[in-house]
Amino acid sequence: MSRGLVWAGGTEAAVRDVPALEPRDGWVRVDVAVAGLCGSDLHVLAGEHVRARPGIVLGHEFAGRLAEATTDLPAGTPVFVDPQVRCGRCDACRRGLRTVCAALTAVGIDYPGAASPQTLVPVENVYALPPSLELTRAGLVEPVAVAVRAVRRSGLGPGDRVHVVGAGPIGCLVGLVAQRAGADVTVAEPAPARADAAAALGLRTVDPADRRPEHDVVLDATGTPRVSASVCDWVRPGGTLVVVGAYPPQPPPFDLLRVMFAELTVLGTRIYDHEDIHAAIELLDRDPGRVPDVVTRTVPLADAVAAVADLRAGRAMKILLDPKE
Ligand SMILES: [Zn+2]
Ligand SMILES: [Zn+2]
Repeated sequence: MSRGLVWAGGTEAAVRDVPALEPRDGWVRVDVAVAGLCGSDLHVLAGEHVRARPGIVLGHEFAGRLAEATTDLPAGTPVFVDPQVRCGRCDACRRGLRTVCAALTAVGIDYPGAASPQTLVPVENVYALPPSLELTRAGLVEPVAVAVRAVRRSGLGPGDRVHVVGAGPIGCLVGLVAQRAGADVTVAEPAPARADAAAALGLRTVDPADRRPEHDVVLDATGTPRVSASVCDWVRPGGTLVVVGAYPPQPPPFDLLRVMFAELTVLGTRIYDHEDIHAAIELLDRDPGRVPDVVTRTVPLADAVAAVADLRAGRAMKILLDPKE
C-alpha cells in the first residue's frame, strides 16, 4: 500500500493510503520524482472542479522515471508526462486541435495522479527527458508549457510592450517567457506578497490601478471577474488581449465596446501541445534563466497538507512534492 495526497471531500486535503493502480491497456507505470501543486489542485480541493470525485489522488504536473519498459523506452528512462488525456474521436481531435478536445480528462483529476510514489499514464503521453535535465527541475515542464503556448499564441515579438495581469505562478512564468522572447514586460498584481515575488523574479511591477492603453499585448492570467471588466484598458488600439487564466463558468463583465472601437484582437490559450512541451523541456534544460526560481520549496509527501494550506493562504508561489519521502 502506498500513500498519496488526496481530495478527501468537502474542502479537505489528506495524505492517506491509496488503492493499488489497476493496469490499463496502453498505459504505463511511472515512478514519480516530483509533482507540483497548483491552482487547479486548490480548485479540486475546494470542491469546485466539476469532474473530480472525492478520494482522487492529486498531481498533474510531474516528472519521474518509467517503472516498466515501453515499446520505445527502457524502464528507468527519465520522463515528463503530459497529464491531459484526449478522446481522439471528437471533432476537435479529428481536426488535430488537441488542446480543445471536447472530452478532455486528466491524470490527477479524473485518474489517480502523481502526488504518490507511483502513477499510471498513457504511453503516448510520455516524453523522454534529456539526461542533463534534473528531474526536480522537470517538475516545472507543465506550467512552463502553459506559458510557452500563451506567449506563442500572443504573437508577441522583440521590443513589444507586453503587460501581464496577475502574478501567480502562471502569470510570472508568462512574464519570464515573454521577457526571454525580447519583450518589454510589466506585471500588475494587487496582492503585495505576489507582487514582491514577481519583482524578486526580475519582473517589473506596476500599479494595477494605473491602466494605460499602451501595450501591444496583454495577457490576463487571473480568471478573476473583477479584472475582466477593465482588462481591455491596458491594450493599445489594435493590440491583442490573451485570456490565459480560467474564468468561472458564469460569463464575467467584459468591455466589448472597446474591443470594437479599438479593433482589439482577443484570443484564448489552453494548456499545451507537443511543440509547447518540447519548447518547455528545452528551455528548462538549456537556458532556464530565472524560471526555476518560481519554486518556493520542495517538500516530502508527509508535509503536503501543510503545503496546501500555505498555497491557499498565498504564502507560497509554487511548491513541489517529492512523493517518495
Ligand atoms: Zn496545474
Ligand atoms: Zn477529443
